[in-house]
Amino acid sequence: MKKILVAGAGHGGLVAAAKLADAGYDVTVLEARKEGTLGHDWEDGFSLGNLAKVLGITVDDLPSDLWRPRGDGAFFSPSKDTKIVVHYGPTGQRVVWRKTLINMLLDHAVKHGVEIRYGVKVLGPAVEKDRVTGVITSEGKVDADLVIDAAGAFSPVRLGLPDEFGIDKMPKPGDVFYGHRGYYSKAYEYQPDIGFEVYLYHEKEQGLSWFDTSREGCDVLVGRVFPLSPEKVEEQHALFRKDHPWFGTELLHGGTFAIIPVRRPLTLMVADGYAAVGDSAFMTTPMNGMGIDLSLLAGGLLADTIIKHGSAQAKDLWKYNRAYHILYGANNARNHGLKGALLALPYEAIDFFFENGIIQSADLEGAGDNTSLPVLIQKLIRGMKHPKWFFTLLGGLMKGTAAAKLYRKPPEEFSLPEINEWGKKIESKDVKVEVRAH
Ligand SMILES: Cc1cc2nc3c(=O)[nH]c(=O)nc-3n(C[C@H](O)[C@H](O)[C@H](O)COP(=O)(O)OP(=O)(O)OC[C@H]3O[C@@H](n4cnc5c(N)ncnc54)[C@H](O)[C@@H]3O)c2cc1C
Repeated sequence: MKKILVAGAGHGGLVAAAKLADAGYDVTVLEARKEGTLGHDWEDGFSLGNLAKVLGITVDDLPSDLWRPRGDGAFFSPSKDTKIVVHYGPTGQRVVWRKTLINMLLDHAVKHGVEIRYGVKVLGPAVEKDRVTGVITSEGKVDADLVIDAAGAFSPVRLGLPDEFGIDKMPKPGDVFYGHRGYYSKAYEYQPDIGFEVYLYHEKEQGLSWFDTSREGCDVLVGRVFPLSPEKVEEQHALFRKDHPWFGTELLHGGTFAIIPVRRPLTLMVADGYAAVGDSAFMTTPMNGMGIDLSLLAGGLLADTIIKHGSAQAKDLWKYNRAYHILYGANNARNHGLKGALLALPYEAIDFFFENGIIQSADLEGAGDNTSLPVLIQKLIRGMKHPKWFFTLLGGLMKGTAAAKLYRKPPEEFSLPEINEWGKKIESKDVKVEVRAH
């Protein structure tokens, strides 16, 4: 195997590209956007340790002005009557400009010999005799021995794969968050005690919004489980202005729509000549949509597997797929169960959980990982005031735990019938979410 194409300059794809080029492969990244325009125009959190490792340096070597602490967060119940404060502390979440992050990864890849071709839109996979042999682009077909799919949640490569490959294509209702985010001016100077406010089931709709005044402007996110229209965003901004009168109108950064997968990762993410990484394989923590770390880690894992086996055959790429699930996928599958239960419940149930201490600071800080037995027993006692809602929540956790157990034990070898059967068992643990009228 010689020629590797990375479809889309996603984070994991760039990490894999640099490692593979370093190992002597001929690696090209095909990116739809123009040079200098990549990355979101806002700041997000992830582990600086993972970034430093990818770049082959230590955290101390990273520029000191690269990040800032997120600051404490105040989480509001849907009625806004209950507020839970999360103290992230000085070592807690650190946020970095997304454009800076992606530029660091692009520079790193180029330094290691990767060719980046900007302004090339990938339209779909090229498939011959049951294997991916390249991609179809806006400039014609490009051949490759292996295509690494790093083109995001609705990657045209994954969507164009033949059904017989057994790779899941479309996320289910509730598995994608549609967001709009922008940094706006302040109408007048105002700094609340806790600048970062998160509203669950904001305005009683499935999703969340946040309003962050920790810095000079107002960072406003509107996120829902249904596609957002400009009118909807305007409506939500107008509602925010009622209780945040310092929310100005001048757009400083962002102001764009974006998609976040919030589901367990693809059970099967490889085929002959194909491997997905990052959002294209739904590698995020479902409860908070964080995917940068998982994408960086998966990119490294994929490259190591390819280098070790020197092959683009599904039977060898499956080792990457398996390792990802055992290391990270299982935890996210557990988290997916909890997310499903919360989205399946009415907003009144979330109010009840907030008011009765069933959702606590530690749950919000750890994106729902605070489920030790003593904690659960305490919650059970309080939850029995409203057993139907409580058992829906518990049911989600139990389904998530069962799915995690399966993710930890993927079939040893690449066998499609076995993988399909295993995938179906996992799917049977999903909590059904209906997107309600809005
Ligand atoms: C509002 C918001 C807030 C977020 N906050 C966080 C956070 O705090 N922490 C965190 O860890 N994660 C966060 N995420 C999630 C995070 O952005 C992703 O999980 C992460 O970027 C990994 O995605 P990726 O690199 O695989 O794909 P992407 O970031 O989607 O990159 C895909 C790349 O492929 C290119 N591309 C797409 N289609 C084509 C095509 N047809 N042809 C060629 N190129 C194409 C795109 O231009 C892009 O460069 C957030 C996401 C959003 C939207």
